[in-house]
Amino acid sequence: MSDNNAAGDLAGQPATADDLAFMREALNLAQRAAARGEVPVGAIIVRNGQVVGQGFNQPVGSHDPSAHAEICALRDAGQSLQNYRLPGCTLYVTIEPCTMCLGAIIHARIARLVFGAVEPRYGAVSSGQRLLENGVYNHELQVSSGVLAEQASTLMKQFFRQRRAISKDQGPSTEAGAELQ
Ligand SMILES: [Zn+2]
Repeated sequence: MSDNNAAGDLAGQPATADDLAFMREALNLAQRAAARGEVPVGAIIVRNGQVVGQGFNQPVGSHDPSAHAEICALRDAGQSLQNYRLPGCTLYVTIEPCTMCLGAIIHARIARLVFGAVEPRYGAVSSGQRLLENGVYNHELQVSSGVLAEQASTLMKQFFRQRRAISKDQGPSTEAGAELQ
C-alpha cells in the first residue's frame, strides 16, 4: 500500500505487519492444497503492496511434478504482469523452497523471498543445499525466514498425521497396516 521503506533491507530483521498479512494469505492457500489432499504449501507474490500472483502446491492433482506453490505463483504473476521476469516483487511461501523453486525464483529475478518454516530435507536456502551461499548466482535475493513458521509447520504436521491415519485405515497394503489390530 503506502511506502514501506523497511522493505528494502529486511534480511534478518523482524517481519513487518505487511509480511504477516501476506504470509497469512499464503497460509490460506496452503490450506486449499491440504483440502485437495496435496502437501500444504502456499505462495503469494506481491509488488508495491499488491498481490500479483498466488499459488498452492498441486503436483498430484495436476499431474505436474513442477506444480509446487512457488512455481504456480510465479506463473500466475508472470501472466498478470505479462513479464517473464518479476523484478521488485516479493515472494511469500509458507515452507522453505526446494532447489527447483529457488532456481525459478532466481530466474524470475524476484527481489525478496520470505518464507515460514524451514524444510530440513529439501530446503535449498538455509537447510540442505544452501544454493544462495555457493556464489553461483549473481542475482541478489533478499531473504527473510521464520515468518509465521509455527503455523506453517503445524499445517504440515496435521496433514501428514491425517495421511498416516488414512493409510492405516486402508489396511495391510501399507507398511503401517501391520500394526493394525
Ligand atoms: Zn519447490
